[in-house]
Amino acid sequence: MKNVTIKKTDNIEYLQFNKLLEFQDELIHAYTLKTFDFGLDKRIDRKKESLKILADTFNFSENDIIQGNQKHTDNVVEIRNQEVSLENTDGLITDRKQKALLTATADCICFLIYDPQNKVIANIHSGWKGTTKRIIQKAIYMLIKDYNCKHENIICCIGPALRKDHFLVNQDVLEIFENEFADYWRKYAIAEETDLENEKGKQFKIDTILINKLMLKELGIIEKNIVDSEICTMCKKDMFYSYRVYGKDYKNNIGLIMKRK
Ligand SMILES: [Zn+2]
Repeated sequence: MKNVTIKKTDNIEYLQFNKLLEFQDELIHAYTLKTFDFGLDKRIDRKKESLKILADTFNFSENDIIQGNQKHTDNVVEIRNQEVSLENTDGLITDRKQKALLTATADCICFLIYDPQNKVIANIHSGWKGTTKRIIQKAIYMLIKDYNCKHENIICCIGPALRKDHFLVNQDVLEIFENEFADYWRKYAIAEETDLENEKGKQFKIDTILINKLMLKELGIIEKNIVDSEICTMCKKDMFYSYRVYGKDYKNNIGLIMKRK
């Protein structure tokens, strides 16, 4: 697999981005595989157990964990010393050490972000709704404005997610994308009509990864710092959880990023 390395211990399997491993003296990061059972809230006991495994593996305490109550919003919260509300939160940013930023995804994109110059991290959950709300651009703006990051230093890694060939939508969703990203639509092959139909009519494929990459480039993130795992959660359903494959029984893959003490 390109750009990533898979690691396995007795308790957990996870993927790491080779680019972020260059900074492993100061940075911890991972995107968990399916063998790491991170259930939904209804299975709270299992979730606690899993968080303990994650914390033990990467040498942090469960108290260091910061996870937003993800709702497909464009809300990005900056973690400093004071308590903040994590309700309706899909993005987390911090320059503090020992804050384990977590997101949970199963088909949605997890962005693990690092500025090695200013030592700021971010973890962003962006499904198709987050993409149309441009949450990734909002997060990058905050890094530049609030943390003085230079766009050319920001590294943005794209986790396993549902890719174009498997992201099928109807006309209604297609139009939301077309309206929001009219400029891209004219220049790039973002959507494709298919022969498939469901009860709501004709289906289209949309390349949400490409849209997110274009949004990053628009803000000056440089090509070599946009690191794509190039993994589709549906194609690799044996390795990762996919909402579209597992339906209501789906579980989550966990994205983790933390600055070491
Ligand atoms: Zn696929």
